Amino acid sequence: MTIDQNSLFLAAGICSIALAVALGNAWLQSRSDRFLVNWMLGIALLGLGVLLSMGTPPDVMPTVALAYAMEIFGFGLVFIASRQFTGRSTPAFFAVLLLAGITLSVTVPILLGLDGLGLITFNFLAAALLAATALRYWSVRAEAPSSIAVMTVLYGLAALSFFACGTILAHEGDFVLHRHPDNWAEQFNAIMCITGITGIGAISLGLNNQRAARRHHLEARTDVLTGLLNRRALFDSFAVQMLRDGDAVIAFDLDHFKAVNDRHGHSTGDAVLRLFADALRQNGRAGDIVARTGGEEFVLIMRAASMQLATTSAERIRAIFADAQVETVSGPLQNTASAGIAMAKGAGESFEVVLHRADTALYRAKNGGRNRVVTELQAVA
Ligand code: GH3
Ligand code: MG
Ligand code: MG
Repeated sequence: MTIDQNSLFLAAGICSIALAVALGNAWLQSRSDRFLVNWMLGIALLGLGVLLSMGTPPDVMPTVALAYAMEIFGFGLVFIASRQFTGRSTPAFFAVLLLAGITLSVTVPILLGLDGLGLITFNFLAAALLAATALRYWSVRAEAPSSIAVMTVLYGLAALSFFACGTILAHEGDFVLHRHPDNWAEQFNAIMCITGITGIGAISLGLNNQRAARRHHLEARTDVLTGLLNRRALFDSFAVQMLRDGDAVIAFDLDHFKAVNDRHGHSTGDAVLRLFADALRQNGRAGDIVARTGGEEFVLIMRAASMQLATTSAERIRAIFADAQVETVSGPLQNTASAGIAMAKGAGESFEVVLHRADTALYRAKNGGRNRVVTELQAVA
């Protein structure tokens, strides 16, 4: 069976346009994923460039130049998108330099009538950009090892096919072609483009969905104001695990916080809450669990602690917060917090039970005058 090269490239062009539409749709659903825009534009330009080059006579240099300009510009954008996806920023001047450089290197020879030279340059530049894109993805393979391995191979094979096309043209040394090159490498290249675009497209969209799902999961567990775990995340995590003997649960509640809102406004109240969250975060040990469980209520869980260690930590957090200030229009504002501490006893005590005892101690701290730490062991004040 002989494969008609034009039909292969037509299929590659149509596949690209379809993938660009899918990428555009993905971006509409998740606008913060800016790399999808560059990727969509890159793939669309690539597809349109392929269709244009198939649809116009190969001896009309301005349209040939335009078609290859679109294709190489598209590869450049795909490379920039892979940098964005893998957490590398691309300074604007570097992006402009890269895109202008590759586009001019391909179009100038073609416009001068040396379309063979332009095509050699195009194939080698496309191979280099695809190899660089493959390396970018390979660098983040820990995120999804098998998917990224397949993607890297597909980008790598596509790079190899462009390299083969460039090598054959360079070997023939024909700098003036005025025809579509027709050899085994071109067929390999068209097949790799179709396989690559469909395979890479499906895997990348899947990777992007996985990332979005992880992000939503994290957002659902995080308190927006303070960045700490929220109540749901804390209770969910202790629905599947028990406290261990020696774990300390410390319940904090800011004192007279309603008055802060009433006197200074809600945004000052929010600043006070963030200040307390910072004090909690900065004074915990690695492995401690810190959550905002309600409006001005926080919980710190210290694993494998002792009542003495938990008391010292709670006292330090209380003192730091009492000394800290929030700037307001009517001058600096200071606040206090009260804390109650309970220890898990024996194995397998539920979190709710220990938290309830910590809350009871906290209630006594409030009744005892606030701005203090009370343990469940202390006699009723
Ligand atoms: P106590 O010393 O007895 O704890 O008194 P309190 O005023 O701190 O306690 P109360 O429970 O009466 O008031 C809690 C206030 O917390 C009421 C509510 O307006 C405020 N609050 C709850 N969530 C937020 C929030 O997200 N931001 C701000 N600024 N205020 C909040
Ligand atoms: Mg409260
Ligand atoms: Mg309070």
